[in-house]
Amino acid sequence: MTHYDVIIIGGGPGGYIAGERLAHAGKKVLVAEKESLGGTCLNVGCIPTKSLLNSAKLYAHALDSEKFGVTASGVTFDWDQMQSWKKQTVDTLVGGVGSMLKRLKAEVVKGHATLIAPGVIEVNGERHTCEHVIIATGSEPVLPPIPGVRENPKVLDSTGLLAIDHVPARLAVIGGGVIGVEFASLFAALGSQVSVIEMMDEICPFMDAKVAAALRKGITGVDFHLGCRVEAVEDSTVVFTTKSGDQVRLEADIVLMAVGRRPLVEGWGASEAGLDYSPRGVVVDDCMRTNLPNVWAVGDVTGRSLLAHAAYRMGEIASAHIIDPDAERQGQVMRWNTIPWAVYSIPEAAGVGLTEAQAREEFGEVITSSVPMALSGRFVAENGVRAPGTVKVVADAKTRTILGIHMLGTYAPETIWGAAGVLENELTVDDLRQVVFPHPTNSEGIREAIWAIAD
Ligand code: FAD
Repeated sequence: MTHYDVIIIGGGPGGYIAGERLAHAGKKVLVAEKESLGGTCLNVGCIPTKSLLNSAKLYAHALDSEKFGVTASGVTFDWDQMQSWKKQTVDTLVGGVGSMLKRLKAEVVKGHATLIAPGVIEVNGERHTCEHVIIATGSEPVLPPIPGVRENPKVLDSTGLLAIDHVPARLAVIGGGVIGVEFASLFAALGSQVSVIEMMDEICPFMDAKVAAALRKGITGVDFHLGCRVEAVEDSTVVFTTKSGDQVRLEADIVLMAVGRRPLVEGWGASEAGLDYSPRGVVVDDCMRTNLPNVWAVGDVTGRSLLAHAAYRMGEIASAHIIDPDAERQGQVMRWNTIPWAVYSIPEAAGVGLTEAQAREEFGEVITSSVPMALSGRFVAENGVRAPGTVKVVADAKTRTILGIHMLGTYAPETIWGAAGVLENELTVDDLRQVVFPHPTNSEGIREAIWAIAD
């Protein structure tokens, strides 16, 4: 038995960043990981999807390059090479996490960890004690009880589809959230016939409605079936009912089930240890405290925001409180409304803060502006004036404080951190008008939108 300052269960973004921050502060840390450091994000999530999407974007760009004065003949793609680049990327980054933890002298143990009680963890049959425990067990894909979905080799989750050894001729995607839309875009760019079946009236319901609609219209080669309920999957045929009550049989070769993920709250002692949790996640306050003393939870397992960068921030907040019990007074609390989101489809989209509908509900009167990305010189030079792109800003009418910034177009995910900084610092429209944006950049779309708001 070894005694640690902190034991972390799970080595994904929430767990490993906490391990790094705590070890950096001189704490004796153990990270227990049952599969591979980097968790979902590095191994079967953010990174492999972005690697494959980048290859698909290069391919699409090459096919479209003539109008830019570049002629490429015989442009093809090689799925095996795309997979091998993906593997190389994942291995590099997973190795980097291991090296960083080692350099900071955090210990890593491979094994399934169980929370026995606050301050007591069991891994591989061995008990360890500690002052603090951080739970960072992540999430798992939801498999809804639709007839024909379970134990059907034609129905894959995102992990299965990432590992597929060929590009399917026909892909049906059940679920039009971020994961569904990114895979739809990826395979459509590679020539698959892709259909997305979504129960809601619009894809990505967390987005501002106008931006979500523009994103859907901007994705080429995908048939979106909105407001449709999947009734069954028969072999690889998806049977669904449309809004008007018609039954449709959609034939595909592979079906991606992408209806969401749920926090991994079972199988590691939560109930036995008396932790407050539900299927929606481990209950935490804004400092990531659970109901048990010195037991913290971060990342997807909390169900608060299922994004890697949100997991990073939660890991950092929990660490800050373990390092300094006065951290709350220094402002170390989660500000959930300033977590950006990004979709790496073709075209890309990103946003932060309230949608127009949410802002109206919370603040009553709001002011908004919406401008085409074509107002940015760089965007036009690189995409053409008709390419899909828009920036929308939502602000409180009384104080002119910016409440949300939503973007569609190239590099939006690279730009949105600046918008998160705007919300984090509660800047007004007039504050942001004083900021100098580099020219020509796509980020100037935000500047145009800020000047388009009524005075
Ligand atoms: P995880 O990354 O899931 O890590 C949890 C770790 O805990 C796992 O490694 C698991 O093996 C380990 N574990 C669980 N139980 C135990 C136990 N009892 N003992 C020991 N180890 C245990 N987010 C983004 O922000 N951007 C994206 O572009 C993006 N793309 C995605 C694409 C896909 C296809 C998917 C599936 C997800 C994507 N996400 C993205 C979401 C992102 O991957 C997660 O939000 C992030 O990984 C959550 O981090 P985490 O540390 O909470 O959990």
